[in-house]
Amino acid sequence: MTLKPIVKCSVSNCQYWGQNNNCQADAIMIEIDKHANMKYDAEFAGESFDSDHKDLADSSANTCCHTFKPKE
Ligand code: SF4
Repeated sequence: MTLKPIVKCSVSNCQYWGQNNNCQADAIMIEIDKHANMKYDAEFAGESFDSDHKDLADSSANTCCHTFKPKE
């Protein structure tokens, strides 16, 4: 059994944002800000996390979540 990390997030207008600021997504995709506008075909909130490319970030301020989906 794989233990999932608890992801705390402040983006309250995301569909996956839940009680106590916990992210409810099954998986999240994090990218460097430089690739913030990259388009992915995969659904990263599901179990089909298949991105295998790698980048380097200078600090946490240079990262962003690609799983974000605005609440409807
Ligand atoms: S998917 Fe990303 S933006 Fe949305 S609640 Fe989870 S961590 Fe936050």
